[in-house]
Amino acid sequence: MKRLIFLGPPGAGKGTQASVVAKGGDIAHISTGDILRAAVASQTELGKQADAFMSRGDLVPDELVLGLVKERLQQPDAQKGWILDGFPRNAAQAEALDQLLQGIGQSPDFAVNFDVPDEVLVQRLLSRGRKDDTEEVIRHRLTVYREKTAPLIDFYQSRQKLVSVDGNADVEQVNQHLTSLIS
Ligand code: AMP
Repeated sequence: MKRLIFLGPPGAGKGTQASVVAKGGDIAHISTGDILRAAVASQTELGKQADAFMSRGDLVPDELVLGLVKERLQQPDAQKGWILDGFPRNAAQAEALDQLLQGIGQSPDFAVNFDVPDEVLVQRLLSRGRKDDTEEVIRHRLTVYREKTAPLIDFYQSRQKLVSVDGNADVEQVNQHLTSLIS
């Protein structure tokens, strides 16, 4: 059983590692970004509300994200464990996650911080070419990360849940380091 939170800036490789680790451990990979993009693509009510925030590189309002995480954590595949990839993204979401997990008698094993220099992130994101991957939006997402999300590193550190990986290494090396930390 593993319950993991993947922290780290956009482009740090959280999604890639989450997908490998989740598959290997047969646990749920819960990416709020993926869920929101799917909602935008299928033009659900959630997608319509989230679209403008995502295109600007701003965070989608907490109440939209919290609802979907709550629902997702209750699905059968998440009972074996989960990786939260891109959630929580600010202090309010971290507090809400605590409450939510307490309510279902769970707690995270680790929060994993992916450390990557900004210039590497910008180059990686530019080469990815997603709709919200223009240089202006990327720089804004990095600012939002620094202001809102990076403080969660201290939040989980103070709870003795934090581990850090050098996300600038190649995918295989990051995976080996990560696996050694969380197993
Ligand atoms: P990501 O794929 O994690 O980089 O997320 C892409 C975009 O989705 C972000 O720039 C936000 O607009 C939105 N998003 C994803 N996760 C969250 C979250 N936990 N809270 C608010 N917005 C989010």
